[in-house]
Amino acid sequence: MVRVGRSTMEAWLGDITTLEVDAIVNAANSGLLGGGGVDGAIHSAAGPGLLEECRTLGGCPTGEARITSGYRLPARWVIHAVGPIYARHTPERSAELLASCYTASLDLAFERGLSSVAFSAISTGVYGYPLGAATRVAVEAVRGWLEAHPECAMRVVFCCFDERTLAAYEAEFARHTIG
Ligand code: ADP
Repeated sequence: MVRVGRSTMEAWLGDITTLEVDAIVNAANSGLLGGGGVDGAIHSAAGPGLLEECRTLGGCPTGEARITSGYRLPARWVIHAVGPIYARHTPERSAELLASCYTASLDLAFERGLSSVAFSAISTGVYGYPLGAATRVAVEAVRGWLEAHPECAMRVVFCCFDERTLAAYEAEFARHTIG
């Protein structure tokens, strides 16, 4: 676990649809109408109400996020963040878009007064973002946001669906524990 002011960041191995946090962050696509991977898992666990609400949103551009209710999930809210398809951009632009998914999600959580948020490893599945680079962007973006909001006490969980992802977050945290 890494402490940033009154907030914390931690990595957790398991299925994001089981997490009892205020909000889970979905790795959505820009149509917001469901898909495979974590998106499909979240929609099937939440039930049809989620898709109905998503239909009213009119999609979401890459790098931005939208919030809905969690329906049958233990999480009260779902934040739908649209990560970059890695091959469609320069690496620098992909990094900006990915960082923006994390900060936009935290903005929404903060505006709603939430105190715990679990992120999926956005873009690291079918969107093809190299895991180590994506993990670095994720941790740096969240850390920067938390440092910029010292009044906020947020529990941030990076949900890792496999050991490889967990190991990447733990390696990244090791760089952030000094100071
Ligand atoms: P993207 O299209 O943004 O790449 P994916 O859903 O393909 O999104 O993958 C993002 C990450 O979500 C991957 O690390 C994948 O292993 C992980 N993932 C898939 N199912 C789940 C789940 N139920 N809970 C948490 N993470 C999951």
